Amino acid sequence: MKVFYNGKIITMNKEVATAAAMAVDNGKIIELFNAKPEMPAEYIDLQGKWVLPGFIDTHTHSISGGLYSMGVNLEHCNTLAELFERLTEGNLMGEMLIAWHLDETELREKRFPTAAELDKLFPDIAVLIRRVDGHSCVINKCAAQQITAIQPLKSDFNGTFRARENDQIVNWFHSSLDEEHILKSYDNAARHAIKYGHTTIHTMVGDGYNSLEHYSLLMANMDRFPIEFIPYAQCFNIDAALEAGATRLGGCILADGSFGSHTAGLFEPYTDQPENYGMLYHDDAHWEKIIRRAHANDLQVAVHCIGDRAISQILKYYEKVQQENPKDLRHMLIHNELTSDKMIRRMGENNIVAAMQPMFDRLWAGKDGLYEIVLGKERTRRTTRLRSLRDAGVIIGGGSDWYVTEMDALAGIDAAVRLHNPQERLTPYEAVELYTSHAAWLSHDEKRLGQLVKDYQADFVVLEESPLVSDDIAEIKIIDVYKNGEILNVM
Ligand SMILES: [Zn+2]
Ligand SMILES: [Zn+2]
Repeated sequence: MKVFYNGKIITMNKEVATAAAMAVDNGKIIELFNAKPEMPAEYIDLQGKWVLPGFIDTHTHSISGGLYSMGVNLEHCNTLAELFERLTEGNLMGEMLIAWHLDETELREKRFPTAAELDKLFPDIAVLIRRVDGHSCVINKCAAQQITAIQPLKSDFNGTFRARENDQIVNWFHSSLDEEHILKSYDNAARHAIKYGHTTIHTMVGDGYNSLEHYSLLMANMDRFPIEFIPYAQCFNIDAALEAGATRLGGCILADGSFGSHTAGLFEPYTDQPENYGMLYHDDAHWEKIIRRAHANDLQVAVHCIGDRAISQILKYYEKVQQENPKDLRHMLIHNELTSDKMIRRMGENNIVAAMQPMFDRLWAGKDGLYEIVLGKERTRRTTRLRSLRDAGVIIGGGSDWYVTEMDALAGIDAAVRLHNPQERLTPYEAVELYTSHAAWLSHDEKRLGQLVKDYQADFVVLEESPLVSDDIAEIKIIDVYKNGEILNVM
């Protein structure tokens, strides 16, 4: 038995609210106290610090983030020359070089590097450069030759790949990994998660099409990781998902692309491309079949949808299956960015949940930012509508979409409190819920995770300051992280 005392414990449970001490046995909280209790136990002084439930990130691509953090980071690259320099200094993974976080609009040249430029530097290494949003990429000839040997690429390989070809390319790189690199990527992801105070992260496993990829490898190795991964069978193969024992299907299975790549599906055209309405990656029949069958088999469904046209395509079938055969499956809209009042109302009425990324707003929804350029001002105000969704009864989980943004819950909480549109902002307490109690709801773990009360898992984070009153939530120092009452090293 352990007793943690002298803390300011914010339980995230409305009835208990706060406590000063908690007794933990066998990884679970067995009692909360308002003062230091006397009992035979190991005593741990929390030194008057703030304690919150361990953060939960409800949307990560651990394999990608874990892998790419071993590769080349192109964040804040200013010129192509600098980009090439970073690439040549980067770590190879076997015969591959992978770079991420490229925002070509930040380059002086305002364009992606070409395959010919990459070939000069890397004639014999397969190179992949991913755009920051993950929805476009460039490769060199060496990579193109190996990929087209399996399945031809339609576009000229000297250009930028988007949509399905982007996925085909990324999947080739991922599927070329050996087990050691795959597990190392998850180790990296876990380390990263702990650094930012997470004890649980949702992770997307599968190629987004037909393959579950290394789902069973991850499941077989769950015990080796210091944090808990909540896996999503990220593919359309329902038989494979059921066979693997999955309880949820999807993740970033794509209804559309992204705003930055002009592939998010819109009802009105892009402001900067008046002929372009974006894309729907699949037709209605495809989604109806998948959602219907998954629902019948008690699988929770999660789909990536960004634009209003894509969200409404998925919402239509969630609504249909829920109305025909109501179940507590909590079908999920991932990203759920551009919405109308009516769509939000329908989500609330049909127990639809959302996994959203407040950092998208911080990065891209500001004045003259990406969203205003591609969507215009009026539509930008209808993105990341946390307040409206919450008021309509939609449970929202916060997440990073890591590798897309940093897996940093405090930064996400900060962004949710200070969204660009004041009407959609949350209170600090509500924003913390996104990464604790409400996040737990998304995976049906609300009776086990996300609160610090009796019988819950003793997963918690010790903070220098309270995020409920801080002026700079993103900068609060994380002191310690505990999983099942055991300390994890913060790196
Ligand atoms: Zn996505
Ligand atoms: Zn994603």
